[in-house]
Amino acid sequence: QAKAAGRRTFMRYDDNMDLAVRQRATVSGALRKVLDRGELRLVFQPRMSLSPARITGVEALLRWSSPEHGDIAPSDFIPIAEESGLILEIGEWVLREACLVLQRWRQHGLDEMTVSVNVSVLQLLRGDFTGVVARVLEDIGIPPHLLELELTESVLMANAEQTAARLQAFRALGVSLAIDDFGTGYSSLAYLKRLPITTIKIDKAFVDGLPHDAEDAAITPTIVAMGHSLGLRVVAEGVETEAQMRFLADRGCDEIQGFWISPPLDALQCLAFIRNWRPDAPHGTRLERLAT
Ligand code: C2E
Ligand code: MG
Ligand code: MG
Ligand code: MG
Repeated sequence: QAKAAGRRTFMRYDDNMDLAVRQRATVSGALRKVLDRGELRLVFQPRMSLSPARITGVEALLRWSSPEHGDIAPSDFIPIAEESGLILEIGEWVLREACLVLQRWRQHGLDEMTVSVNVSVLQLLRGDFTGVVARVLEDIGIPPHLLELELTESVLMANAEQTAARLQAFRALGVSLAIDDFGTGYSSLAYLKRLPITTIKIDKAFVDGLPHDAEDAAITPTIVAMGHSLGLRVVAEGVETEAQMRFLADRGCDEIQGFWISPPLDALQCLAFIRNWRPDAPHGTRLERLAT
């Protein structure tokens, strides 16, 4: 019996190992060609301010449809792109593409719409990222205050000294800076106070249990109050229900993002969503079937 169990265990282990190793190698190989082949695209998720209710901007989110591997989630391929350094090239493409889409929308009259772009630590710490951002904004003609860069808490804390200086350079340029997935890392308040950020995004993990879960109902207003006392804008991520929206609105949260308003949409769908959006019908359930 021990032999049978051992054998089963061995086989499972072997299969997983093989799959993980093989997938990692081929995915990283395939990633190398994605930019040339045009397999990457962006989707855009609207963000809504609560008072007054309006769509303030969008977050650009990366999608990869690989002919060999099918649709791969960013949480699966971004770590691989980071390991191989490809995230630098991919990240620059994301930044440029997001700004190009925003510029097109601006030509349709959406001239105060902002775009948020996720940035990984490798991009932030490379020598000339500030220069890259400045050049992209200038090439495309986007006013810097309409771009927000999202950085995760762990990234900022792991490289405290270096990142603080980098962030300062971005603020000098006029772009906004958000801490993404706030509450999942280990920010000390003292450190947070010294970072030149403009926005915190409360992680979905703390929104999920609202309004009934006692811990989430205690934590989220605390983050809102803390953010405001530091002069920051507070955004809640992953809002899926009207009850969550109401709870956050009552606690003074500035903005929300999540499926309750809209899932991420491709650029054309998102433009249509924003133009058709009305404060008395803020959520886009009709568009959910278009989710990308
Ligand atoms: P994130 O920046 O925190 O983005 C929010 C994620 O939550 C997105 O997942 C979005 O589709 C999802 N989401 C939004 N609202 C809801 C909701 O109401 N319910 C649920 N269940 N999910 C919701 P996605 O697109 O899979 O992206 C995952 C993560 O991958 C992002 O988390 C971000 O950290 C990273 N990522 C995405 N695009 C890029 C990129 O261009 N560059 C970098 N470096 N990272 C990216
Ligand atoms: Mg983000
Ligand atoms: Mg997030
Ligand atoms: Mg998250």
